[in-house]
Amino acid sequence: MTKILVIEDEESVRENLLDLLEAEDFETITAANGKIGISLAISTVPDLILCDMMMPEIDGYSVLTALRQEPLTATIPFIFLTAKSAKADFRQGMDMGADDYLTKPFTRAELLSAIMNRLERQATLKKYLCNQTAMKTLSPKMQLLEMNLHRVVQQQKFQEFEVYYQPIVNIASGKIIAAESLLRWQSPELGAVSPTEFIPLAESTGLIIPIDQWVLKNVCEQIKAWQNIGVFSLRIAVNISVIEFNHPDFIRKILEFLKVNKLEPKYLELELTESMIMQNANGAIATMNELQKMGVRIAIDDFGTGYSSLIYLKNLPINTLKIDRYFIHNVAQDSQKSAITKALIEMAHNLQMQVIAEGVETEAELNFLRQNNCDAMQGFLFSRPLPAAELENFLWNNNRLPA
Ligand code: C2E
Ligand code: MG
Ligand code: MG
Repeated sequence: MTKILVIEDEESVRENLLDLLEAEDFETITAANGKIGISLAISTVPDLILCDMMMPEIDGYSVLTALRQEPLTATIPFIFLTAKSAKADFRQGMDMGADDYLTKPFTRAELLSAIMNRLERQATLKKYLCNQTAMKTLSPKMQLLEMNLHRVVQQQKFQEFEVYYQPIVNIASGKIIAAESLLRWQSPELGAVSPTEFIPLAESTGLIIPIDQWVLKNVCEQIKAWQNIGVFSLRIAVNISVIEFNHPDFIRKILEFLKVNKLEPKYLELELTESMIMQNANGAIATMNELQKMGVRIAIDDFGTGYSSLIYLKNLPINTLKIDRYFIHNVAQDSQKSAITKALIEMAHNLQMQVIAEGVETEAELNFLRQNNCDAMQGFLFSRPLPAAELENFLWNNNRLPA
């Protein structure tokens, strides 16, 4: 609700203004003199101030001067109310930084028009300033990154991108059961750029939509290519940004990629993060349901870093739960992490989900996961993310996790 502070010493004028403003649904605060006016302006920071020019002791000019010197109140739109119509008075007020003035008695229409004009200008200014600061806070390095990313997408230079694949292994059998696609960007100008840098940038600029679509298309073609040479039928998990996921065209695109490549949907798993689902829970759930009906699998990525509980997730169509790397790191030695990880595995199993531990780097971590019946693992201990051809070799060689 828009908050208006009225500073006016004449009670009848004050009451009249109050009635008019409240009838228009403004929240109003009133001050009977300049001194109270200044302190109320600082303590309540209203959206607009109406202030009488002529008041005993502290007059309107002094109130304006005081408020313009205080950073909190310096930019609040300020409208003078005056009974005099001498040009010199208006001039002085405007020179001191008032935004407008109204000559008493004014009509309801004049009052509302003056207020609405000021509020609108203020809103425009605020929007503009916000955009400006958002632009300026991008460091020179990020600006360069953004420029280059734009160029890649606009000029369709997708050859600068490459999809890597990190194997996911069943802990009990030691067999590779799936792989996660992870995007790599080798920029001729900037060298290798990490996805932790360019993905958030792509998300904030909307560039993630064409990028994620390129990844999806690429992955679907790759799954089919591997099936065609008869090596293996591997499920591939693809990271999907919330922006892409909520795009009205998303499901249609997925259907198209599956159809063009004659791919069974069960070979595709989409990784969503919990915070992403919570951002637009109703929309996300509808899309998830539709995907699952089609047979596409859904994984929750980085689980444990957001705020949702497993109890909440029980109503969502989720096939796989990926425990965030943070909990896995040093899990065997850290009693808190081991308690949480154990509980997550057990609860996820009760909800019929498959559990994958992310970022497994040591034998001790793997042993802990094995002892606690975690289904699968992914991490440097077994393999780093690999280019498609290297993963293929890896599979030909029948690499397995030692029992
Ligand atoms: P993520 O989906 O959680 O992917 C796992 C990250 O952990 C990857 O980082 C992977 O290289 C890294 N990792 C795997 N095993 C280990 C390990 O044992 N130790 C350590 N320290 N790290 C390990 P990466 O490739 O840098 O990707 C970072 C994030 O960028 C991904 O996190 C994902 O959220 C995002 N991302 C990557 N590719 C795509 C993409 O195509 N589309 C979208 N929207 N996001 C992507
Ligand atoms: Mg992931
Ligand atoms: Mg993850």
